[in-house]
Amino acid sequence: MGMFEATSSKKVAVVTGGAGFLGSHLSDRLITEGFRVIAIDNSITGSADNIAHLAGNQDFKFIRHNVSDFIFVPGRVDYVFHFASPASPIDYLELPIPTLKVGALGTHNALGLAKEKKAVFILASTSECYGDPLVHPQTEDYWGNVNPIGPRGVYDEAKRFAEAITMAYHRHHSLDTKIVRIFNTYGPRMRLKDGRVVPAFISQALNQEPVTVFGDGSQTRSFCYVSDLIDGIFRLAMSDYHEPVNIGNPREMTILEFANKILQITGSKSEIIKKPLPKDDPKVRRPDITRARKILGWEPKADFESGIRETILYFKDRKAA
Ligand code: UDP
Repeated sequence: MGMFEATSSKKVAVVTGGAGFLGSHLSDRLITEGFRVIAIDNSITGSADNIAHLAGNQDFKFIRHNVSDFIFVPGRVDYVFHFASPASPIDYLELPIPTLKVGALGTHNALGLAKEKKAVFILASTSECYGDPLVHPQTEDYWGNVNPIGPRGVYDEAKRFAEAITMAYHRHHSLDTKIVRIFNTYGPRMRLKDGRVVPAFISQALNQEPVTVFGDGSQTRSFCYVSDLIDGIFRLAMSDYHEPVNIGNPREMTILEFANKILQITGSKSEIIKKPLPKDDPKVRRPDITRARKILGWEPKADFESGIRETILYFKDRKAA
C-alpha cells in the first residue's frame, strides 16, 4: 500500500520542507504538472497555512515529520525534492544544530529514500555555498569563500556537505541527482518575521516603522521572484544535468537602493536607520545564470515592482487575518 491508491499512473513526488515558502510553491507547481505530492515538514519554520489550500486535494498528502530522523514513505516515489531547512540567517542562528542536522542527516535520509525508491533526487542548495564571494558574479565552478566556524557556517557548511553527499550518491550509487543553488528569492508565503530583508523592509514600511539597513547598505543582493525560481527548479528536475545550477535573478542592487525602492513602492514615510552589519554578511551576491540559460532554456521573467506588489498584497492579507 502506498500513500495514494495504486491505480493512478501519476508520478509521485516527495517534497521535504513541503510546508515552507519554496516547498509549498513547488508542491503547487508539481500538482499543476500532473504529479501527486507527499509533503513532509516538521513545521519549525514552515506553516500549515502555506498548504491549507491543498487540504482535501486527492493528489496531496502531508506528513508531519523531522527528516533528520529516518524517513519512511510507503509505496511509489518517483522524485524526492529535499527542500527542508531553516533558510533565513536569523532562523539558523536560533536553530544552529537543527540546521546542521537537516543539511547533513536530513540530506542523507532523503538520498536513502530516493535510492530505495529508485527516484530522482533534487537538492535545494544555496548561493551561501559561495560564502562572501571573491568571484563576482558567481559561476557554478567557483568554490566559494566560507567561514566554517562563523555564525553562518551552520547553514553554509551543511549545504556544502549536502552537495558533497549528493554527488557521492550520484557517482557511487548511480543515483539520478540534481543540485539547484538558490539565490535570494521573495514572494508570497515568506514568513513576515523571518528576519530576511524582504519581509523586514516591507513590514517596516507598511507599519511606518524605521527601515533597518545593516551596515552602510552598500552590500548587494539580487532578488528573484518565487514563480521564476520554481520554474527553473522544475526544468532542472526534468533535465538530465547533474552538476550544480544557479537559479536566481541577476538584477543586482545595493541594500540601500532596495530600501528606497520599498519606500517608493509602498509610499511609506518611514525613515531609514543603520544597524550593525551581521558577522560574515556577504558583500556582494549575483548569480551568473549562463548555465541555466544554456541547459534549461530558463531565465527570470517577473519584473521587480510587480513581484514586490504581489508580496505586499500577501503581507497585507496576512496582517488583516
Ligand atoms: N539586511 C538589512 N536589514 C534587515 C535585514 C537584512 O539591511 O533588516 C541586509 C543583510 O545584512 C544582508 C541583506 O540585507 O546584507 C540580505 O539579508 P537576508 O537576511 O535577506 O539574507 P542573506 O542574503 O544575507 O542570506
